[in-house]
Amino acid sequence: MSKTIQAVRGMNDCLPSETNIWQMVESVLRRVASNYGFAEIRMPIVESTALFKRSIGEVTDIVEKEMYTFDDRNGDSLTLRPEGTAPCVRAANQNGLLYNQEQRLWYMGPMFRHERPQKGRYRQFHQFGLEAFGIATPDIDAEVISLTARLWKELGINEHVTLELNSLGSNEERAEYRDALVAFLTEREEQLDEDSKRRMLTNPLRVLDSKNPAVQEALVGAPRLSDYFGEESKEHFAQVCRRLDSLGIEYELNDKLVRGLDYYNRTVFEWVTSSLGAQGTICAGGRYDGLVEQLGGKSTPGFGFALGIERLVLMLTSLEKVNNVRPQVDAYFIMLGDSVELSAYQLAEQWRDAVPDCRLQNHCGGGNMKKQMKRADKSGAQVAIILGENELQEQKVTIKYLRGQNEQESLAFDQVPNLLEKLI
Ligand code: ATP
Ligand code: MG
Repeated sequence: MSKTIQAVRGMNDCLPSETNIWQMVESVLRRVASNYGFAEIRMPIVESTALFKRSIGEVTDIVEKEMYTFDDRNGDSLTLRPEGTAPCVRAANQNGLLYNQEQRLWYMGPMFRHERPQKGRYRQFHQFGLEAFGIATPDIDAEVISLTARLWKELGINEHVTLELNSLGSNEERAEYRDALVAFLTEREEQLDEDSKRRMLTNPLRVLDSKNPAVQEALVGAPRLSDYFGEESKEHFAQVCRRLDSLGIEYELNDKLVRGLDYYNRTVFEWVTSSLGAQGTICAGGRYDGLVEQLGGKSTPGFGFALGIERLVLMLTSLEKVNNVRPQVDAYFIMLGDSVELSAYQLAEQWRDAVPDCRLQNHCGGGNMKKQMKRADKSGAQVAIILGENELQEQKVTIKYLRGQNEQESLAFDQVPNLLEKLI
């Protein structure tokens, strides 16, 4: 026998036993986004490499070491998208969606990063993301954050997540702060680890969110970004906080929250959980007022976030929040004897016409009652509908309830749709 071929490391299959949880999560994401006035956009999975270099930043982890980049057959450098914001901006720009108008968009799909695979961290993973363009005021910041809070409420995990909030100020304020921070870090260089020494030169704000306790020790007394804010940045952030307060959305101010991507300014936020171990961030985002212009469009403010669907699914599973997921099959149709089969299939089609949302599975492959009942049980269906020769003569089916205590009953053919309605 030849050797079987395995999936690429860090790229997972999503099996039928999990896809129903995924579908439940996806349907909540879609519904909530559209209830807040956001429309779906779908971008290609492959983009020009330059798009990510120019937006995410040359010296970020993603661009430095995580991208799947390759040459197309004609020599163009292409990259499997590591995130969705830059492609979304590219698409909105290219299609004239940002010209003197506001846009509220969402997307969902696979992203690719060459990271070390572990629980909650994969090389192909899935994000749901949402971007609001053309609104510079803090109302949209709070509106989008409250949308995320609603997601957790609807998924039943709001007790298990906390919101961390920070402001990065304007680009000018950050540049001034950066100089002060570098001066401070330079004096303490020997206390920094290799990673932080490197970041001090390339992306010094990232030193702030180092996980190394020794580095955190060295940061005691470091200058604070908020001390460099002008009136406008202060007021913007105060407004966001005030609005969240009035909506009863709790948050923790975290002045070490800087985000790994270069394009953020002003409000940034993350939702974190302690129920996933090291990979505790489930959702992250913020304001990026310079990005559209940086990618060649007309200056347009933006605010958005992305969440990791795998981490949500892991969380729902570990918190056992998946009981309300609908099984793959609602009703299983058992047919006994060759003479009833043609009628059974006709009946099934009539019932499907009558109750299009019911998941009715016909038994295929023949066999006796015992075999068919076994399949019915395994399917997860709530009821087995049984048609034998006697039943056909009486124009009735026998209904066996597979879950719960209901007694077996006999139902006229035309009553079956009523029963199926109740199963949905
Ligand atoms: P982390 O700090 O965990 O590496 P990140 O800052 O790189 O996250 P973002 O680029 O902000 O993450 O992506 C938003 C969300 O996408 C994350 O909060 C996380 O839920 C998810 N995510 C990011 N990278 C991965 C990955 N390799 N595998 C699974 N989910 C991921
Ligand atoms: Mg990362």
